[in-house]
Amino acid sequence: MRYDAVVIGGGSAGYVVASVLARNGIRTAVVEKKAFGGVCVNSGCIPSIFLSDISFLSSRLQEIGYYKGLNVSVSPGEFFKKRDEVVQYLSEAGRKLVEDAGAEVYMGEAIIEDKGKVSVDGKTLEYDKLFLATGSVPLPPKYPGIDRAISEDEAVNLRSVPSSMVVIGGGFAGVEIAQIYARLGAKVSLLTRSRILKEYAEDVRSVIAEALDWDGVEVRENVEVREVKDERVVTNKGIFEGEVVVYATGRSPAFPKGMERLELISSENGICVNRRMETSNPKVYAVGDVVNKRKKVAHTAMLEGIVAGLNALGAREEVDYLHVPQVIYTDPQVGIVGDFNLAVKTEKFPLSATSRATVSGFREGYVKLGVDENGKVVYGEVVSNVAEEIVNAISLAIRTGMTVKDLAMTAFVHPSLSEAIVNAARSFYNLDVDRFRRMKND
Ligand SMILES: Cc1cc2nc3c(=O)[nH]c(=O)nc-3n(C[C@H](O)[C@H](O)[C@H](O)COP(=O)(O)OP(=O)(O)OC[C@H]3O[C@@H](n4cnc5c(N)ncnc54)[C@H](O)[C@@H]3O)c2cc1C
Repeated sequence: MRYDAVVIGGGSAGYVVASVLARNGIRTAVVEKKAFGGVCVNSGCIPSIFLSDISFLSSRLQEIGYYKGLNVSVSPGEFFKKRDEVVQYLSEAGRKLVEDAGAEVYMGEAIIEDKGKVSVDGKTLEYDKLFLATGSVPLPPKYPGIDRAISEDEAVNLRSVPSSMVVIGGGFAGVEIAQIYARLGAKVSLLTRSRILKEYAEDVRSVIAEALDWDGVEVRENVEVREVKDERVVTNKGIFEGEVVVYATGRSPAFPKGMERLELISSENGICVNRRMETSNPKVYAVGDVVNKRKKVAHTAMLEGIVAGLNALGAREEVDYLHVPQVIYTDPQVGIVGDFNLAVKTEKFPLSATSRATVSGFREGYVKLGVDENGKVVYGEVVSNVAEEIVNAISLAIRTGMTVKDLAMTAFVHPSLSEAIVNAARSFYNLDVDRFRRMKND
């Protein structure tokens, strides 16, 4: 079969690029070897956020119950079933969306063959343009006995809550998994080689460390794991017992078989591309987690899909990575956007000084803004139970090159938690009149 475009991978990047191409009349085939939606839908964002919502609710109910003298307990069986239904619904929706756009779907593993050809289960697909959207896979650490442990992808798909769990790895996935299962009733130890969330700002680390401590997670930093033996993790800081042992120690790009035939430039972290998502081979684009880049998240993968699709149609669009936010789905959530290293001055405004926080009772958290020497907003940090929503407004400010002065002169809805953004901006000009002056450095 001959196609104008063949897309390998039906995850966040693949379904978007295939849809953009097919909607524009390009004869497109998408090849997916497991399930549409990829990691995000099947073993990442969606099951993880589903469980995080449940653990949030169960912890709030228990807290309220405690103050009212009630013993509230949550039975997990039903919600695991519901999680699977949500995952299945969204995975099927991914396939239907690309078909609705007009692309043809092949289920099976795509192998790169000689010039301009891909094979899937004995069928040959010929292409003018090839789009690699094959994503990433968990990278197990090289400790003896690690095959007894499960990956982060498997951890969000457990079918019951274990009595105890050891999580190895203190990045965003490790802390999310540790908090979720601790709140659902497991005794959790979180082990990390250096510090938890080592790439994040000190304020963020201390908020999350406090939250994990409150939820009873035993966080041990500077730990060297020596081996995993049955239900025990042997380390330089002692032995940690876990009915389930999870590793969340990083991922590696999932290069398709035969990729060497394309003669692409790549590294251990992925395929090298420019901001137009072009590889070193003029017939090949790469998008999503398989690309060599820092922020490997679903919304970047989707934006890259749009950019690559438009460029294949003749445009010259580029991905702007600076404005891409990232959220850690703990409670409280943390949203980060921009680059702290570009900021010459920062201001922080506490949510507790907004009326909305006082009304809702969710008073924990803050918004921090960073500006460059021209007064442009280049960094945002949000801690809140809804950081996922608040951070998007800062992302927009960065994307449009807004100055902090413009932001300070903007009216956001009152009462709302997002008002903390304009108040943080007003703090640069001594206009943060919603808080007492003595609270300035809180
Ligand atoms: C626990 C966890 C939580 C996460 N939470 C978030 C979050 O909250 N928000 C967020 O933005 N991101 C989150 N992420 C990251 C997000 O899941 C990824 O960035 C996103 O899935 C990348 O999309 P992708 O399309 O590049 O790759 P993938 O989702 O990995 O999709 C690649 C697809 O290609 C298929 N494939 C691979 N090789 C072949 C082949 N040879 N032939 C045919 N098909 C092939 C795979 O089966 C897969 O379906 C999370 C990840 C994890 C692990």
